[in-house]
Amino acid sequence: MESIQIHDKNFVPYLKHDEIQEIIKKLAFRVYEDYKDETPIFVGVLNGVIMFFADFLKYYPGKCEIAFLQVSSYSGTQSTGIVYKKMDLTKDVVDRHIILMEDIVDTGNTLENLFEYFKNTQRPKSLKVASLLLKPDVFQKDFTIDYVAKEIPNKFVLGYGLDYDELGRNLPDLYQLEEGRINH
Ligand code: 5GP
Repeated sequence: MESIQIHDKNFVPYLKHDEIQEIIKKLAFRVYEDYKDETPIFVGVLNGVIMFFADFLKYYPGKCEIAFLQVSSYSGTQSTGIVYKKMDLTKDVVDRHIILMEDIVDTGNTLENLFEYFKNTQRPKSLKVASLLLKPDVFQKDFTIDYVAKEIPNKFVLGYGLDYDELGRNLPDLYQLEEGRINH
């Protein structure tokens, strides 16, 4: 893996595609243990979740349905803290077991807003969260993230669905922003 440059930022290799697959496979089986007698609806929070969502579903051995929701809360490498809900939930989830699927939980603001949205517009039987990545040093909410594949340091990550300024989502591996480097 080589470093990637987008605009003036340099990103260094962090997690290879194979390693990502291993942690997702484990996560899928953990979730299955809790839901094997149910038919949950996995709700993908777009856009960053696309790769994680597709791979997770391939490893999930039980019965399930899927739906999507689109939000946005990042500008460049800074969380704006504002969640723009761009798309309504693609399926009615009233009285169903819901697992929100996130690419990464940083401040937790996005999830807090989504919980509010579900409380006000839907009445799921249960609502849990699965995230590929969590930055525990930043996350300070009083709710817990039910399923986390990997906890990471407080550094901006790119690739495997996650973007920088809408670029880099198609990279199969994960990269980390290289700090303190000035590109000319
Ligand atoms: P939160 O609301 O928890 O602060 O941030 C959640 C959303 O911000 C994620 O779904 C993701 O879209 C974006 N985000 C947070 N941290 C990162 C990061 O390190 N890299 C990228 N590309 N997006 C991030």
